[in-house]
Amino acid sequence: MNMQMNESEALVVFSGGQDSTTCLFWALKNFRKVHTITFSYGQKHSAEIEVARAIAEKAGVDFYLQDASFISQIGSSSLTDTSIEMDQEKPADSFPNTFVPGRNMFFLSVAAVYAREHGIHHLVTGVSQTDFSGYPDCRDSFIKSMNLTINLAMDDQFVIHTPLMWLDKAETWKLADELGVFDLVRNETLTCYNGIKGDGCGHCPSCKLRNAGLQKYLSEKSTL
Ligand code: ZN
Repeated sequence: MNMQMNESEALVVFSGGQDSTTCLFWALKNFRKVHTITFSYGQKHSAEIEVARAIAEKAGVDFYLQDASFISQIGSSSLTDTSIEMDQEKPADSFPNTFVPGRNMFFLSVAAVYAREHGIHHLVTGVSQTDFSGYPDCRDSFIKSMNLTINLAMDDQFVIHTPLMWLDKAETWKLADELGVFDLVRNETLTCYNGIKGDGCGHCPSCKLRNAGLQKYLSEKSTL
């Protein structure tokens, strides 16, 4: 990593899940000071927010909770509306209904404004195109477009970092291990759509993806 990053501050878009927690520790390794921003957007499992707060505290970084409940008021998703039954698989012709329309666009826009107010120019998000579940706002093209847009919107020079963009879930576990936080990520993060910390419920789409990656990583590691 270049000198400039090591001397800079970064803001991590943080949910307390596997991906953004791995990104938080990646940022702690690469930046002088790290801040987190967590959004309350009407997610069914508000336990997520307390998990995020606890991890931020443990990591010794600033934690800022931002209300973004309008996201679940204007768009529908099975992650925010208890009356919608969650898709277990990605439908052939569209996104699964766990997709929250506009979420990453709103998150990054708001995070950029917060960063600007605090003199921060590096944003970090845990999106991945490899395991993107069909979510269009996890793709590299969207992030590059968003980076240009926030720079134009505020006539500034932000850099959006996506350390997980080209990693699959097994490689994300490997990165957490290399960063020395494998156990923390495994036991203290919340990725499960049913709100269960650590290894989760085991059967929701998010748990299946996370656990398949974990098993793949552990079996690769044991053959070394
Ligand atoms: Zn689950």
